[in-house]
Amino acid sequence: MWFVTLTNALSVSGAADQWTIRRSNLSLVLRHLRDHGPRSRARIAEETGLNKATVSNLVADLSGRGLVAERAVERDRPGRPGMTVSVDGTGVCGIGAEINVDYLSVLAMDLGGVVLAESRRPLDTRVAGALVAFDLLGDLVSDTATAVAGAGASIAGVTVALPGLVSSADGYLRAAPNLGWQAVPAVDLLLRRLGNPGYPVWADNDANLAALAEYRWGVAAGCGDLLVVGGTFGVGAGVITAGSLVRGAHGYAGGVGHLPYDDDGDVCVCGHRGCWETVVGLRALLVAATSADDPVRDPSVDLSRRLAELIRRGEAHDSRTLAAIERLGTDLGVGVSILVNVLDPAVLVLGGYFAPFGHWLTSSIQRELSARVFGTAGRCQLEVSTLGFSAAVRGGAQLALDAVFDDPTRIRRAPAARAAVPTQGAYV
Ligand SMILES: [Zn+2]
Repeated sequence: MWFVTLTNALSVSGAADQWTIRRSNLSLVLRHLRDHGPRSRARIAEETGLNKATVSNLVADLSGRGLVAERAVERDRPGRPGMTVSVDGTGVCGIGAEINVDYLSVLAMDLGGVVLAESRRPLDTRVAGALVAFDLLGDLVSDTATAVAGAGASIAGVTVALPGLVSSADGYLRAAPNLGWQAVPAVDLLLRRLGNPGYPVWADNDANLAALAEYRWGVAAGCGDLLVVGGTFGVGAGVITAGSLVRGAHGYAGGVGHLPYDDDGDVCVCGHRGCWETVVGLRALLVAATSADDPVRDPSVDLSRRLAELIRRGEAHDSRTLAAIERLGTDLGVGVSILVNVLDPAVLVLGGYFAPFGHWLTSSIQRELSARVFGTAGRCQLEVSTLGFSAAVRGGAQLALDAVFDDPTRIRRAPAARAAVPTQGAYV
């Protein structure tokens, strides 16, 4: 009997291997189309090293899952039109959700990068507390999911962006001093609120997700050595090196807001004195630029509107506003000089609440970089984000969609297409 058992084991193992190879090849073709654009089956085969029959079979499978589409294109010479395969973005979407100090935000994006829905609501999260904030976020996510599902899109998953130390492996927010939260089971809370919706939920640090969005969609898209500095009340960085996000040993890399900056400075929300974010965080700018009763400090007003008012005052040459922005630019420049010396990024992107003030901040930052970065002056290109407060939620949606690019079988084939694809055989 032993050989029968062994044969069965080998058979199961062989089927599993074949399934793994097929899944890997589906991912290879889908990512190739994402990264290089529409092309013919023959060209996919040539460029990926897969044979033509395998590519045809894989394209049929991806098409059955609604992930690619084939379209006829005119050829230069007479004859049958050629067919090109492209990523079909419309059938699948990822959702990014964010809890920050003054707002909640949700964005849905399809596989082709088209934003299907975006909403933000002001909330004094620190006062509301974690349970209320996750309840309200769950409502926003649920409304968005219902809308995109009603339009015919499958939901690949939801990623929650949080301003603190996030353990993405177990979905816990370990600490978010700007929210006053500790040990919050973020993924569990949202799943419970959504009623276990049948799609996965992840959690990640907001600066990490913003960096992913900048890398894919932003002003320095495709730059493999990228430093993104942003935030609001808290300040963080997302670091892309050689095309990959730097997470560190515990997933907490990028907490640059707590770099020791001024021994005589204010006490930070983390308990230490003089952290960098005590001088470059939004709280410091509001204190420097406004009085205590100024409506610009009112957390019940949408943050974009409050920042727009500060920009209006700057453009009207209000001296207090301009002095505060100038001070911010210098302190930002000194801090990012440290980061550039350590990390040597090709591009530094100014994101978060810094971006709307970018045209005032860049000259001060550039001055400090030139004075303080060791080595070739101007080696790091400075850019201002065009994604603004959408960066973290866009990155969250992207992370959910990346799971589909890594494993297209997460999306089920339509029943009609299932019969067209062999369940086993030579094509993997
Ligand atoms: Zn601190």
